[in-house]
Amino acid sequence: MRSLTWKLAGALLLVVIVSVGLTAFLVSQSTIQEFQQYLSPCDTTYLEVIENNLIKYYSQGRGWNGVQATLNSQVISRNDRLVLTDSSGTIIGDTANNWLGKHIKEIGLDSPIPITVSGKTAGNLYLVYYGHIDQRGSMMTPGCMSSTVVLNVAEENFLNRVNNYLWVIGFIAVAVALFLGVLLTRQITLPVRALTKGAQQIAKGKLAYRVKTRSKDELGELAQSFNSMASSLDKMEQSRRRMTADIAHELRTPLTVIEGTVDAMLDGVFKPDKEHLSAIKEQTAQLTRLINDLRDISLAESGQMKLELSPSNMVDLVHRKLTQAKVRAFEKGIQLSLKAPEQLPEVTVDAARIEQVIANLLSNAIRHTPSGGSITVSLQTITNAPSHQVEKPSLLLSVADTGEGIPHEHLPYIFDRFYRVESSRSKNNGETGLGLAIVKQMVEAHGGKAWAESEPGKGSAFYIALPLTTG
Ligand code: ADP
Repeated sequence: MRSLTWKLAGALLLVVIVSVGLTAFLVSQSTIQEFQQYLSPCDTTYLEVIENNLIKYYSQGRGWNGVQATLNSQVISRNDRLVLTDSSGTIIGDTANNWLGKHIKEIGLDSPIPITVSGKTAGNLYLVYYGHIDQRGSMMTPGCMSSTVVLNVAEENFLNRVNNYLWVIGFIAVAVALFLGVLLTRQITLPVRALTKGAQQIAKGKLAYRVKTRSKDELGELAQSFNSMASSLDKMEQSRRRMTADIAHELRTPLTVIEGTVDAMLDGVFKPDKEHLSAIKEQTAQLTRLINDLRDISLAESGQMKLELSPSNMVDLVHRKLTQAKVRAFEKGIQLSLKAPEQLPEVTVDAARIEQVIANLLSNAIRHTPSGGSITVSLQTITNAPSHQVEKPSLLLSVADTGEGIPHEHLPYIFDRFYRVESSRSKNNGETGLGLAIVKQMVEAHGGKAWAESEPGKGSAFYIALPLTTG
């Protein structure tokens, strides 16, 4: 569970340990080297400078008189001791002062650096540095024979302190890196863990679960996408449940009527006459209608409805449906009329589906318009799109009635599946609450749009806009 945190923190730590360790090692090594170099009188440049200065001094014609002061000025390290003899071997200069006048043989220094002036040896220079004096104080290897400086205790301590500081600093750097590494990796792994938990909750069916995250980076975006996926799943699940409940409810009414009528016939309460058999037939017709509507809706919603598109004349389609609706309108005393311009462009539609749309709108209008009312079907082209409702040039069909109208609070929902305005629910006059949902799905499958306007008590108008060019 926590392995990603430790993998990332471990990787960061490893990088820091390697780089800090390497830096500390290199700094320590170069400090030792530089320090030894600083202490060492074996630097040839250093020796050459002293040699040249002594040659210059001698060449000025004074011989070695007063050379002691010059020799003292040549010493750059407190560890160095310079000893100068004349050509006979008598010590005429000593930066430590206590061998002056003695012969070099008494001291036992070797490895002289001859000071040669005009081809003659004017004297010899000896270098002694205290690094070559062991703890008992006796001289080990006088002169500058080796390039490796043997350090005295104070110098060793100095180097050790430098080294210790380096390792302490390295340790602090590693500790800080570990702390920051864990902190930073937690920033990455916390949203990942939250997402994992979210996915587990969704898998368990807790679709209302949402991932909480404050990060605005890619992981924050991922969490947001996850949440919107979860809310679509939630909505789909709720709509599936609602639909199942609605279907069960819609099936129950006709089945109860059929069952009750048949039971009554079996018990001899009803005679199996034409009246009761037609009541059963009416209910089975209602069931068939419901099942057909459900099939259409589910095909359209899943995008599997196959449209047989062909250029069609909308006036012809409307005429056909008006002719069929005329009988019912006449029976109710409703006036039907069509308003259409002389010339209308053809639209590429599935004629049967659009006829079904027109039929649904007409049958609703007839059902909700009282006797003496009127229904007007209008056709027009909209070329100045995008306008109020339409985004592209379209053919607009409207079915306007002078009926009861739809209360404003219901208007936004009338195209939803099984949605019925309360007053008409109780009537149970063959309505399934699917008519307008089918209209919407069919029109949208054609790339069009359906909407309604209504004024309660005055009437309603339903609009469908079908694009003039497909795509
Ligand atoms: P149904 O098949 O039950 O009529 P619809 O989806 O066709 O269902 O309609 C949904 C609701 O819209 C209905 O309950 C109805 O009250 C209301 N409705 C539809 N058309 C009209 C109309 N022309 N006038 C008034 N109300 C209407």
